[in-house]
Amino acid sequence: MGYRMLKNEKAIVVFSGGQDSTTCLFWALENFKEVETVTFNYNQRHSLEIEVAKKIADELNVKNTVLDMSLLNQLAPSALTRDDIEIEEKDGEPPSTFVEGRNLLFLSFAAIYGKLAGARHIITGVCETDFSGYPDCRDAFVKSLNVTLNLSMDHQFVLHTPLMWLDKADTWKLADELGALDFVRNKTLTCYNGIIADGCGECPACVLRKRGLDAYLQEKNDRVEKG
Ligand code: ZN
Repeated sequence: MGYRMLKNEKAIVVFSGGQDSTTCLFWALENFKEVETVTFNYNQRHSLEIEVAKKIADELNVKNTVLDMSLLNQLAPSALTRDDIEIEEKDGEPPSTFVEGRNLLFLSFAAIYGKLAGARHIITGVCETDFSGYPDCRDAFVKSLNVTLNLSMDHQFVLHTPLMWLDKADTWKLADELGALDFVRNKTLTCYNGIIADGCGECPACVLRKRGLDAYLQEKNDRVEKG
């Protein structure tokens, strides 16, 4: 992947226990000598997310630190943080699961944590390909923040976004290449209704996840048949 030279360094993964950040965690374990995870508690709809993240980190023998971000819920109520807001997506606007400024805050806090923990590499699973209208998932935002973080802390951070240009099928492919397809499929939580693995099958997150997995498995199958 071109990151072999970083094998000696330490990295922090912004980790939610979902498909994307778990794939990023496997990617980090492949590319860095030492890896830690940080998980944010913003009173998300499913506190289960925090338990799942802890469990996965434990299983992979990786340190997990939960940082309290409950102020985000106070500032940016959304369907991810409030049970009384319906999950819906309307054309031309961010879905009701959007939490304003979330990645700006998460990456900034992860960087502060990272600097104090002796790491300059910060890894996040944000993705512009199917960014669902979330402005702080875009590549330009991440690059801009990288410069700002370096200036603000006088440190040479490198923000890594291994999923930035992948679609959901490619993300499954990356998990497979990292030897983690079954792990990611069976142990991660993406479902808005809080069901791990293949989830409820009906919420927008499950539909997206399944569509990607089906496309990838189909592609893999076609490849095998063609030999
Ligand atoms: Zn679901």
